Amino acid sequence: MNVLVTGGAGYIGSHAVKSLRLAGHRVVAVDNLSRGFRAAVTGDTPLVVHELGDWEHITRILRGNRIDCVMHFAALAYVGESVDDPLRYYRNNTAHALELLHAMRLAGVRKFVFSSTCATYGEPSPEHIPIREDCPQRPINPYGWSKFFVERALLDHCRATPDFACAILRYFNVAGADRETEIGEAHNPETHLIPIVLQAALGLRPHVEIYGTDYPTPDGTCIRDYIHVEDLIAAHLLCMDRLTPGTPMVYNLGIGRGHSVREIIAAAERVAGGKIRVVEGPRRPGDPPRLFADPSRIQRDLGWTAKITAVDDIIESAWKWLSRHPQGYTSQHPVG
Ligand code: UDP
Repeated sequence: MNVLVTGGAGYIGSHAVKSLRLAGHRVVAVDNLSRGFRAAVTGDTPLVVHELGDWEHITRILRGNRIDCVMHFAALAYVGESVDDPLRYYRNNTAHALELLHAMRLAGVRKFVFSSTCATYGEPSPEHIPIREDCPQRPINPYGWSKFFVERALLDHCRATPDFACAILRYFNVAGADRETEIGEAHNPETHLIPIVLQAALGLRPHVEIYGTDYPTPDGTCIRDYIHVEDLIAAHLLCMDRLTPGTPMVYNLGIGRGHSVREIIAAAERVAGGKIRVVEGPRRPGDPPRLFADPSRIQRDLGWTAKITAVDDIIESAWKWLSRHPQGYTSQHPVG
């Protein structure tokens, strides 16, 4: 298939580009490089540096490359930033996705795989954990709303357009790097727990701050569902193959088990082979105590299951990438 990957220079999009290519698809990446890195686009994949909001240009790209399917990863994804500048998030994540769908309609592209998020669930009540897809969606920040609105538009568009097929994939906490350590997680600034813990293990930061130790969880720290990026992308390829017009697919992507912040730090110490300095700090606003998926719908429908489920293995994969690329993609010469 000819696949356009938006956000193809970002963390998750770059893994999609590589997996699609290795599976024999023809891939075109588009990215505005506001958060992505040119070096993350592997192989001979063409990279179009452009804004998705420019639907005329995107229509030309879709037509010119005879695109069959769009995988839409391009998005801003910092909760705090979305609270400070909501308009930027609604414009970039919501409005640009709608312009992309408009371009797809003009170009006759009828397959769409959308990166959504468990942030659309907000703070689910305890009876909704583990989280199923029918858990009420009540986002608690503009980031979650910016994705929720696209989901809403997609479901309506799918219902009204008999030949349009889409998958909505709600990610939990994505981590790890590809098995060849060619690409991995690089954010600037980094806010995610696993890379931060590993940066502390490498001495790139003095310590890890735990955001809150008084949550109603066994060790007082927040619990999340960490899924390996390669398992996450495998689910995208399965969905793409099974897209069905008029029947939107909606799936949670997590492993179905949670780990606390302290458990992640302990696992990172095992993997890195040393103590990591920890500072206990206050809660970060908007962090629900426990979030983990019930992924049984995609298991039942498509036979997908996560292959890398041991937290040490997920962290090991992130560790290999970070220790070889301590400065991310700015490092010209990988270490080791
Ligand atoms: N966290 C932490 N210290 C950090 C970064 C994150 O204690 O330096 C916690 C955060 O409060 C949350 C969990 O680790 O409970 C995962 O956070 P992350 O930002 O990686 O993902 P999120 O679940 O917010 O999408």
